[in-house]
Amino acid sequence: MDETALDSILEVQEAVEAPDDFVANAVVSNPAAQRASAAEDPEAIWEAAANELEWFRPWDTVFEGDPPDFSWFPGAQCNIVYNAIERHLLTWRRHKVALIWEGENGDHQAFTFAELAREVNLLASALRARGIGKGDRITLYMGVSPQLAIAMLASAKIGAIHSVVFGGFSADALRDRIQDAKAKALITADGAYYRGNVVPLKPAANAAADECPTLECVVVYQRCGVEVEMVDGRDIWWHDFVAGASTEAGTEVMEANDPLYILYTSGTTGRPKGIQHRHGGYMVGTYLTTKWVFDLKDTDLYWCVADMGWVTGHSYVVYGPLLNGATVFMAEGAPDYPDMGRWWRTIERYGINILYATPTAIRMFMRTGEEWPNRFDLSSLRLLGTVGEPINPEAWRWYDRVIGKGRCPIVDTWWQTETGSILITSLPAEPQKPGSAGLPFPGIEADVVDKQGNPCAPGEGGWLVIRRPWPSMLATIYGDHDRYVETYWTAVPGCYASGDAAVRDTDGYIRVLGRMDDVLNVAGHRLGTMEIESALVAHNAVAEAAVIGVADDLKGQVPKAFVILSAGMNASDTLSNELRDHVARTIGKIARPDSIEFVETLPKTRSGKIMRRLLKAKEAGQDIGDTSTLDPMSFADEEE
Ligand code: ATP
Ligand code: MG
Repeated sequence: MDETALDSILEVQEAVEAPDDFVANAVVSNPAAQRASAAEDPEAIWEAAANELEWFRPWDTVFEGDPPDFSWFPGAQCNIVYNAIERHLLTWRRHKVALIWEGENGDHQAFTFAELAREVNLLASALRARGIGKGDRITLYMGVSPQLAIAMLASAKIGAIHSVVFGGFSADALRDRIQDAKAKALITADGAYYRGNVVPLKPAANAAADECPTLECVVVYQRCGVEVEMVDGRDIWWHDFVAGASTEAGTEVMEANDPLYILYTSGTTGRPKGIQHRHGGYMVGTYLTTKWVFDLKDTDLYWCVADMGWVTGHSYVVYGPLLNGATVFMAEGAPDYPDMGRWWRTIERYGINILYATPTAIRMFMRTGEEWPNRFDLSSLRLLGTVGEPINPEAWRWYDRVIGKGRCPIVDTWWQTETGSILITSLPAEPQKPGSAGLPFPGIEADVVDKQGNPCAPGEGGWLVIRRPWPSMLATIYGDHDRYVETYWTAVPGCYASGDAAVRDTDGYIRVLGRMDDVLNVAGHRLGTMEIESALVAHNAVAEAAVIGVADDLKGQVPKAFVILSAGMNASDTLSNELRDHVARTIGKIARPDSIEFVETLPKTRSGKIMRRLLKAKEAGQDIGDTSTLDPMSFADEEE
């Protein structure tokens, strides 16, 4: 099979300019100048950002090494928590609100930076008193709550390595991750509210902990007040754990390249990888990208809807915003509970200014109608973002028109658990092209290349790679450095291989075409999944679509589409033919699906990404492999 280039068939969208008043007041109001200076000296941009933060000892040099092994700011000492909390205590931000949280049941909590510091110190002192410290691993298994952020920060403050496991995962998935990290402590909760019910976390935590001999203690936060089984000598309530602990806790001095956390990937393409990030570089990367991409100002109330079990929750709920001294909003629960108005009511009630969401959620809201958002006052919003999957132009335009009312720039941010921070997105003051993530962040050398590493011409698809390391780049896969080298550094010579397919247009805008593993080969044409799916979703009968390649004697492969219909639409052969023709008409005959299967659900990870490999395996009658990160609700049609 020829693996050099991909065909890109989707029409390039016209650029949408940011409103003039937005540009005039933007944090980066002269993006072109930033890009020019970053192109000249990519390290200078990171060094300038590092200089805006506090270090216990300065770096000897900005960058050193030879990928796959390298270090940022070697010789420097720091602690990300000092910058996320303590440095603000010395300024007017001491009494500024750092976190506002709304529980699904209406509960409410808010913390100023001073209050947050106190909570973090109490937990940090208590952990230290239990003999937990620098280099020890702590697994966190909780719902979206300030306490999860506090547990992350307390771990990092004492130099321990946190590993957050998404609260919706099963006992087995939790056990595997605790065992992989050889964690010494587990911090969990009795439960969390989700769609009107209490999701019991403690029974799963117990089942997992029983098989994890490395665990010395299990700390349990009382969120819901449900009855739980506590194991004598191992388990302790959070409130008892911190009772009597000191409100002063020294901040561990870390080398810039000491590990900060481990986080397992979504597992869309296979067995999840324990991605390891470090204090110094990750701090600089998340600090600067949050400030520039979200145009973050002290007056903003910023809401990233991601669960903290994912990297987005690490970089853009907790670390990036707090490093910037921002006020972060977080909410427990589902976007569609108690009704489709949850997000829009929340935006109106709190006056949210910046919303960072996912294409999956936006498509769900499109499907259920704009009456819901239209009932609420969304005029506080000034910037919108998306992450997690390619956003099809139709969803982008809906987000722009119905939510942003045409006033708010939309940043489509491409990045990965591995990258730690956003790598590709046009800055908000720059023109945006619906469906394209946009330009690389200043200082990031992204490229689209063929298998040999040669740049592809504009309009020609290939491998999305990054040519030089960036500060928040992963250090390794925890406990498996060989897998790290093999996964990211062998596919394309000398480059970090993202595993995604992409195409660049003549303006340098990058559009992600899907995952390399999912690329179809139809009669010698290599097609990404995104374009065909995007064409399908552009039809008003289609709410969501996933495309895979199935074997064909004549053409090698032909596209097969799985389609969820919009409300009120009925499946029929006529509609199937119409949709197939629609794809052929809008993007070309080569992309016409050979067959369409109408489904109620698509297999997705818990973070809302479509798992095409499951559709492929099922179609080919193969074993579906590791499904530990599958959302069981999303594969309801899977019958044994
Ligand atoms: P695994 O690596 O285990 O298969 P995963 O790749 O789903 O899991 P994440 O790190 O959570 O785990 O997801 C990163 C991937 O999400 C990217 O490689 C890309 O495929 C997709 N992605 C994220 N943001 C965007 C975006 N803005 N546009 C297009 N794709 C995106
Ligand atoms: Mg990945």
